[in-house]
This record gives sequence, structure tokens and C-alpha cells, in this order.
Amino acid sequence: MARIHPKEVRSSLFRVDLRRLILWMCLFFVFLALGNSLHAAYQVQHGLLLQHSLDTNRAYAEKLAHVTNSFLETSAQALEAAALDVTESRLDLAATQKELDQLANVTDTFNAIIAVDFSGKVFAARSESAFLVDTYLQASQARQLLNAKKATAISGAFKGRSDRWLSVIASPIFSPDGSYAGFVGGTVHLQGGSALQNALDKLHYQDGSYFYIVDETGTVVYHPEHGLIGSSFKDTEPVSAVLRGETGTQRTSNADSNDRLVSYAPIPFSNWGVVALRPTEVALSNIGELFLKTFYYSLPVFIISLLAIWWLSRFIAHPLRELAQVAANLDNRANFSRIRFIKGWYAEAAMIRKGLMQSFSAVGNRIRKLHLEGTTDPLTGVVNRRGLDAAIEKLMETTQNVAVVMVDVDHFKDVNDKYGHAAGDEVLKTITALIMDEARREDVVARLGGEEFVILLPATGLDPARRFAERLRSVIERAHFGSVGRVTISLGVACYPEHGTNVEDSLVLADAALYRAKAAGRNCVHLA
Ligand code: GH3
Ligand code: MG
Ligand code: MG
Repeated sequence: MARIHPKEVRSSLFRVDLRRLILWMCLFFVFLALGNSLHAAYQVQHGLLLQHSLDTNRAYAEKLAHVTNSFLETSAQALEAAALDVTESRLDLAATQKELDQLANVTDTFNAIIAVDFSGKVFAARSESAFLVDTYLQASQARQLLNAKKATAISGAFKGRSDRWLSVIASPIFSPDGSYAGFVGGTVHLQGGSALQNALDKLHYQDGSYFYIVDETGTVVYHPEHGLIGSSFKDTEPVSAVLRGETGTQRTSNADSNDRLVSYAPIPFSNWGVVALRPTEVALSNIGELFLKTFYYSLPVFIISLLAIWWLSRFIAHPLRELAQVAANLDNRANFSRIRFIKGWYAEAAMIRKGLMQSFSAVGNRIRKLHLEGTTDPLTGVVNRRGLDAAIEKLMETTQNVAVVMVDVDHFKDVNDKYGHAAGDEVLKTITALIMDEARREDVVARLGGEEFVILLPATGLDPARRFAERLRSVIERAHFGSVGRVTISLGVACYPEHGTNVEDSLVLADAALYRAKAAGRNCVHLA
């Protein structure tokens, strides 16, 4: 069977076969869907991670603020206790001196511990700070504490005598008459390894996150890069926000394009603020891993989909391809039964299959009809010369010997001339019928044209054939042909394989015998 290959019909560059079409289309959409869901998953994870990191960072800032606030409050409470004792001693100098030294013993928060009168003059100091006695407060930040008068307070950052940044916590003292008399103050060094700095240095993460603390003017009082202490950060957005007393968190990109998560929380005791920063890339460092996990989880379904598509595309295209093969070979009878085994499992394939089967039968019927017409004599209904050849071929497959009887009507020209052509036709039909009556079922009767007939007698020898011919002659001779009356025939008989090397030769020899019968006066049988 000739197979048609899709390549033979692929005249256009863009013509693909159905299977590939389905395959590529599905692949395209599967990849699109996968890409889309991975993208969506990435976006969601990204958002969640970011939100989580912002929340964590904000909690971190609040915790730092809380720790710092506690540190300052605890220190302030120690000062308050000392200030109370100084007030109770009625500002006795020796008692004050003793109190300040005692305070230095119980806490290492303060570098210098002093007692200042309302004019800003240091009137007592712990022993290590004795050189400060009788000096005046110079820094405006320290002098402001005098103005605050009533409550325990902390100053902003300022540069002290030793050129180091420091801050002062002060608790008021009062004269016996209850009037404001100054304060007991402790200086907190912001640089050079103070207790506050050491405590805060321990609170850093190792992953690039850090925090700093600003005083109420936006001056840095704590920064892991100690060199930045004393700088003003007041113009940065988180610092302004935290100095307004706000707690918050946001994502920022600064001038050197560092993408960061920034959180801030105020320190209530001092009106300072903590700002905690975390590089966004650290916060999002897990996203790659999460993304890969998502990808791995979707992989099984993805692979199953690919296999299913591959299989389905075959399954869908296969019937059509089979039907195309059959349709290309409709002249082959075997294909008809092949169609029945093609699974037209969906409507279109089933329709094509049904259509093919119908047209196959129609074409078959038409071919059979044409074949019949081509091999039959229309006047008498027996086979013609072409039909005879086919019959001889078929006979030779089953039979060894065949007798050939040639028949020609005598003086038929005269019949036509006397009674007309139509009457002649009737005679031919009647003769045919009579021959058919005499012939056996397996005999082949053919009209060769004109008024000549051939009868093939399978498996018949010369003698029975001669007897048959004689009987036929006699039947015709005795028959009555309507208005025409009597008609006779002459016959020539030959046998294959006795006469001739093939049936065609025997036909020629039978014809020669017929010729001799004519010559012998007609209405007789002659043998080859
Ligand atoms: P002979 O005895 O020698 O055979 O004489 P004949 O007249 O039969 O001579 P021939 O065989 O040569 O003539 C055949 C005639 O048969 C010629 C033609 O007019 C006639 N004929 C041929 N075919 C047909 C046909 O289909 N119908 C009719 N009516 N006549 C036919
Ligand atoms: Mg003739
Ligand atoms: Mg004749």
C-alpha cells in the first residue's frame, strides 16, 4: 500500500501536522501557565517576606528603644535617689561628696558625677571628677537642664571638655526652704567605650543590619560606626518621623541606592529615637530558595502534563492519519476492512470514517457497474468480446481443457434486408435465449459482434462439444422466429488444448472450422 507521508503534503513552510500542532499549542499554554503561576508565586512570596521582615524589623526597633529607655531610666533612678539624699542632707557638702562617691560605686553608667548649684557652678563631684569642682557648666545642652528645674531629665549630645561627645542625666536638688537648688548630674560618654555604648554594641545582628540612636535634635548619640556620633541626621525622613514620636517601618532607597528596610521607635524617657536598618536583600535572601521549592512542587504535575499532552496529541492525530492513509488507497479492497478497525473515538474522526466507508462503497458499486457495462453486450445481455477475454482468463485458473463453439447466423444480411434491422435484433435476442437454454450453468456465452457467438464449454472434450453444437444447430433450425420465420446457423468446434497452444488459438481454429461449415453449404457443424 502506498503510504502518504505528511512531508508530501507539506508544501507550505508553515503547514504542520495535527499532532505537532496540538503538541506545540498545548506546550505553549502549559509553559505560559507554569511561568505565570511561578511569577505569581514569586510575587506573593516576595510580598510576604517583605512584610514579615518589616514587621520583624519594627519589633526589633521597638525592643531596642525599650532596652535603651530602661537603661536610661534605671540610671536616672539611681541619680534621683542620690539627689533625694543630697536634698535631705540640707545640701551638706561632705554628705553630698559622700553621696556622689557612693553613687559611683553602685553604677558604672556615669563617667563624671557632679552636684551643680542653680547658677551652674559645680559645688561637689565624685573623687575622680574633683577637678570639676568650682567650674561652671558650659554646654548649652547642660545648662538647659537647669532651666528644666523640676524633673529628672537627660540632655542632648554635646562635646565635653575632653572633646568627647557626652550627655548628662540630671535630677533636681532643693534647698531646705524648698526652692530649686540645682541638680545632681551624671555624664554619660557617648564615645570611647561607655557602659551605654558597650550595652548597645552587643545588640547588633551580624547580617548587615544595624541601628543608630539620635537625640531630640537629630544628633547621633549612638551609631555602630563610632565616628558618626555627633553628626546630625535630623534631615533624614525616619529621624524626623521618630522625633515626632512615631513608630513605623518603611522600605527606602537612599542616594547610594542601598535598598533597605527602615524601622524606628521613640525612646520616651529621653525623647530620643532608635532607627533600625536592614538591607532588603538580606530580608529577601530566602526568596530564591522559596522560589525553587515552588518550582519543585509544581514539577510533577508539569511533567505529567507534558506526557499527557504528548500522548493525547498522538491519540487525537492517529485516527485522522490512519484515515488519510486509507483514503489515499481507496482502490485497494483490503482498505475497506481496515477502516473498520480505525478508532474514530471523536465526532470528526467518526464522521470522516463513516464518509470514507460510504464513498468507498459508492465508488465500488460504480466501478462494478462500469465494469459490467464494459463487458456486457447491451442487445443480448451476454458478455462481449472484452467479457469473453476476462472469462477465458478466469476459466484458465480452474480448468485444464475448454471446448470452443463458434456460431454465425446464415444469410443474416438477408434477414435485415427483408424484415428490417429491428426484426434482425429480435432474431439475435431469440438465438441468444436459445443458446442460453442449451448451455450449462458453467458455460460462457458471448456475442462477438454482428451475428457471431462463441460458447466456451469448460472441462469438455471434442466429442461432447460436437454433440452440443449439433443439438444447438438443430434447436435453431426447428425454432420459429416470428415474422422472420426460419433461421439457421453454422458452427465450428475446437478444443483446447487439442487445438492450439492457448484458448485464443482454439478460437481461431474454431472460426476456421466455421468458415468451412459455411463453405460446405451452411446449417452444419464442422470440427477443427
Ligand atoms: P453468411 O451466411 O455468409 O454469414 O451471410 P451473412 O448475410 O450473414 O453475411 P455476414 O455475416 O457478412 O453479414 C452479417 C450481417 O449482419 C451484416 C449486418 O447487416 C448484420 N448485422 C450485424 N450486426 C447486426 C445487428 O446488431 N443487428 C442486426 N439486425 N443486424 C446486424
Ligand atoms: Mg457473420
Ligand atoms: Mg452470417
